Amino acid sequence: MLVKEKHLFYNSVMDVLDKLKVLSLNMPFEAAEDVTCISDPQGNENLDTLKERFPVTHAHLPNGKTIPLLKTMQTSVCENDCNYCCFRSGRDTPRASLTPDELASAVVKLSKAGVAKGVFLSSGIIGGGIRTQDRIIATAEILREKYHYQDYIHLKIMPGAEKDQIFRAMQLADRVSINLEGPNESSVNRLAPHKLFLKDLLTPLQTIEEIRREYPSHLGWKHSWPSSATQFVVGAVNESDLDLLHLTYQLQSAFRLKRAYFSGFTPVINTPLENRPRSNPWRQHRLYQAFFLLRDYHFNFEEMVFNASGNLDLEKDPKLLWAEQNLLYQPVEINQADYQQLIKIPGIGAVSAQKICVFRKHHKIRDLSTLHNIGISTSRASKFILLDGHRPSYQPELF
Ligand code: SF4
Repeated sequence: MLVKEKHLFYNSVMDVLDKLKVLSLNMPFEAAEDVTCISDPQGNENLDTLKERFPVTHAHLPNGKTIPLLKTMQTSVCENDCNYCCFRSGRDTPRASLTPDELASAVVKLSKAGVAKGVFLSSGIIGGGIRTQDRIIATAEILREKYHYQDYIHLKIMPGAEKDQIFRAMQLADRVSINLEGPNESSVNRLAPHKLFLKDLLTPLQTIEEIRREYPSHLGWKHSWPSSATQFVVGAVNESDLDLLHLTYQLQSAFRLKRAYFSGFTPVINTPLENRPRSNPWRQHRLYQAFFLLRDYHFNFEEMVFNASGNLDLEKDPKLLWAEQNLLYQPVEINQADYQQLIKIPGIGAVSAQKICVFRKHHKIRDLSTLHNIGISTSRASKFILLDGHRPSYQPELF
């Protein structure tokens, strides 16, 4: 049986929830390692059946909440042939498709059952990015307008989507994202030969920001525009951490990009990249650490420490590495440093820096025990600080 015929056969015999399971289990490089078990549903479906059927991700939302999130696709049939993807055109794998009505009603059913309290919606491409985007938007419209769905919606913007489609998606979603795949044209060529880095991927990301600037935010469903994110496949085609982080750094300031996801490459059999080794999971971890330093800790890109190949050190936290090169012999005086200097000290984050700023308004900090007493761990920080002009009393590694 041909691959296309197989899809038509499977699609005709599976029920909607079975299809949804196929669509949710195998999403290409969508943080599969986050998939965990589901919470207790309270609806009509049998709990065990639903547990077997649906993997959900425990996702951290921009507002700090964690929810069980259903990550799914409108269809896993795709006319594109991305070199890393299990759903690339012509590859023999179980596939399924749902109409906007079917998918929206299934999402509502799972929401009522308590299985998923939000949906992340992507799709394989059929009939081009524009038609595919229309189906994604139609699903979100049914959710918001027919079912008055109030939960979190994250919509993927398809390569080549038009401005009015992006506008509509932004009206319906809490977050929109487009996968850049790689940090430049050449890496995207090797990962996804049918996608044009500038025209298909970067331009829609720019359009999201243009819409935020051009139109009042009350046009969004929560009277605000959604945040934007992107995703990279890491480790498949020799892109460097420097290239990845430099691009995300530029996108944060130019397009207010909120989040970049770094998905470690895992080879998939019967794809052109099947013989490439799996990406080291530490690489993803270091990329996230560096991304948060740039986004939340106000590090400049020039302060990131890369090796000769343009990659981060896999062995060491980038903040610690920076501190060893910059603070070891110029420690920070805890009683005088401003907030921005404090958060650059290893082991001191935003909360600890705030505590220090508040405490020292009325007290001098002279020893580590004072920091401990206000809830600050000093095991990493101690060798990079001065307390009232003196290094803390014990520094075995330093001396
Ligand atoms: S567009 Fe590429 S990554 Fe997306 S489903 Fe199709 S082949 Fe896979």
